[in-house]
Amino acid sequence: MGQGKFSLRSSAFPAFPWYPVAKSQLRPGLTLIATPIGNAGDITLRALDALRDADVIAAEDTRVARRLMDIHGVSLEGRPLIPYHDHNAASALPRLLELLHGGARVVFLSDAGTPMVADPGYRLARAVLAEDIPLGATPGPCAAIMALTLSGLPSDRFTFAGFPPNRREARRSFLRDLADIPTTLILYESPKRLAASLADMAEVFGTREAAVARELTKMFEETRRGTLESLAAIYAEEGAPKGEVVVVVGPPPPAEPAGEADVDAALRGALETMTTKDAARTVATALSLPRKTVYERALALRGE
Ligand code: SAM
Repeated sequence: MGQGKFSLRSSAFPAFPWYPVAKSQLRPGLTLIATPIGNAGDITLRALDALRDADVIAAEDTRVARRLMDIHGVSLEGRPLIPYHDHNAASALPRLLELLHGGARVVFLSDAGTPMVADPGYRLARAVLAEDIPLGATPGPCAAIMALTLSGLPSDRFTFAGFPPNRREARRSFLRDLADIPTTLILYESPKRLAASLADMAEVFGTREAAVARELTKMFEETRRGTLESLAAIYAEEGAPKGEVVVVVGPPPPAEPAGEADVDAALRGALETMTTKDAARTVATALSLPRKTVYERALALRGE
């Protein structure tokens, strides 16, 4: 693959799979911009271009957006900077939609990371799609993905579960709903609830590998790995850590293969109300066994 001749200007970079992108990709419509999760350097060249080229900038917190723009030398130059968050959506959304219908190039950024990942943006994106306004995004940092990347836990399938509820009973019930999902789990948690939450996970999920990723991309970044029990004990002893945390939990261990006695018990129950074929199919699916083997055993039991 040729290296091509391109400068560090984002617009001159080829997009995957290596074709050049014309200057100013930003089109009329809404573009969701991912921003750094700590280190201001983690913003893409395309995100900066979008911030420069936008007609209107909408932000979860306009002061945070201003600061990021200042760091990167993007000036506002009289463009509207509109606050948009969960509490003002009722008034801000119609205003943004009106601007979008007028053909404006509007960008939206949340305080940190990818909009809509435990952050505002969902209602805005839905409203935009419902009104046939183009929706785009400049991808970038996301704490969940960085924590998964550092966790050393299986990454072929994962479930992002957001923040567990604060109250213990609600949290346990939330965790019980996640317990059987056969993937790695990623959860956001507040540092002050971390120890209690890890203890609940240890109780509800049993022994599983896990990782706590803290202060990602920042000066005191660290990732601790261990079982849920060991991590819960560490944070119970040390107290709430400083900064922001993500918890990553490995998938449940594979279920023990069903033994002959289990198959017979399940088949006897099923044969009381089902045909041999249906009983075999139901039990084979439930126990993840080959249908033919279970059918043969069902025939034998029917004949007894
Ligand atoms: N939209 C963001 C993203 O893409 O990751 C998430 C925003 S959510 C309101 C904030 C939570 O994300 C924090 O409580 C923490 O669980 C996680 N988080 C964000 N930045 C982090 C960082 N630098 N280190 C660890 N966790 C972080």
